Amino acid sequence: MSSTTPALLSGHAAFDREVFVTQPVIPDPQAYADLTAAIFESRWLTNNGAKTQQFERQLTTHLGVAFCKTFCNGTTALLTALRALGLKGEVITTPFTFPATPHCIEWNGLTPVFCDVRADTYNLDPVVVEKSITPATCAILPVHVFGNPCDVAAFEDISQRYGIPIVYDAAHAFGVSVNNRQIGTFGSLSAFSFHATKVFHCAEGGAVVAADSSLAARLSLLRNFGIVDENTVSGIGLNGKLDELHAALGLLVLEQIDEEISRRGALVQRYHLQLDEVPGLAFQTIHPGTTLNNYNFTVEIDAEAFGLTRDQVHFALRSENIISRKYFHPLCSENECYRDLASSTESNLANATRLSERVLSLPLYGALTSHEVDLIAQTLISLSEYAGDVRQVIRSL
Ligand SMILES: *Cc1c(COP(=O)(O)O)cnc(C)c1O
Repeated sequence: MSSTTPALLSGHAAFDREVFVTQPVIPDPQAYADLTAAIFESRWLTNNGAKTQQFERQLTTHLGVAFCKTFCNGTTALLTALRALGLKGEVITTPFTFPATPHCIEWNGLTPVFCDVRADTYNLDPVVVEKSITPATCAILPVHVFGNPCDVAAFEDISQRYGIPIVYDAAHAFGVSVNNRQIGTFGSLSAFSFHATKVFHCAEGGAVVAADSSLAARLSLLRNFGIVDENTVSGIGLNGKLDELHAALGLLVLEQIDEEISRRGALVQRYHLQLDEVPGLAFQTIHPGTTLNNYNFTVEIDAEAFGLTRDQVHFALRSENIISRKYFHPLCSENECYRDLASSTESNLANATRLSERVLSLPLYGALTSHEVDLIAQTLISLSEYAGDVRQVIRSL
């Protein structure tokens, strides 16, 4: 493919409609109508109905875990997972994540302590984490960033030596496995998000899972106001329930998830084929033995070698109708609510800071065609080829 003139230099935009970074799997509307008809017929819309129970059973099998408790969203799932452990003190986590991660720590009356990530995997660095453990540390909350598994063996080891529980934010990691072991079986608990932007979704939803069922009953209680029976409330629960309509949607999306993941996998390969050798682009390191879910495709842009900064590329792609996203920028530690923490200093978070200035997530979803992926990749390459002119135009705006 020959390089085309960027839209910013009066070329044609690569796309005549906006291409977003993701698109949800959409089930057959008639199949969903049939399921909702059955729900309406039963007049049972929420509170552990038949569809929710079926959804939890299927998820338990699919995720290879001892139990799966569904929630109304991933944030409530994570919030409740932390609450279930009865923690007090500080929770070590990553700043290179979605704001929900540290927010769930704060909403539990706990204090986030940010540690740096590894420059290659983008995940919390267990070596740095271990050095940051103090008597106040009550838990570690790593995130499997973009579905790339954390160094689960190292965290397991730290957890055992220090007697500190690990709770994984597995929002991105549905269906991921490490050396044939499912991601939800690591740590004390893992929380998934089933938001429409995640690879598996039910519009809004989430789940908490684990390899053993010791915390299952406690999660059920906390998810439903702490209500034990008609006469007893035990513990300060909330309303975290998933309803029947969302569970039904989840059941249908689950039927399509394997195909969605494999379509995305083919597109990721196609991106790599065209972009791996482009000067100034780098990618998240995935260790052998990992089965990914292809949640996301992110490039890391070195401004000097590529010719444009990440922000310039983001802007230029916008003019091509390619809507890329800066995941994750700003760092959580840079937000006003966290920036005064002792652990939020830039010198403490050098890798995360560098990454957040360089990363750019490109469109990736099963309904994207291979031709569209080629067009996005080639557009990115032409931006680098025309970098000098593009820089000038952007500066003059
Ligand atoms: C999406 C996301 C969440 C929150 O999930 P919701 O279902 O949107 O509430 C939490 N953590 C991470 C890392 C996420 O990306």
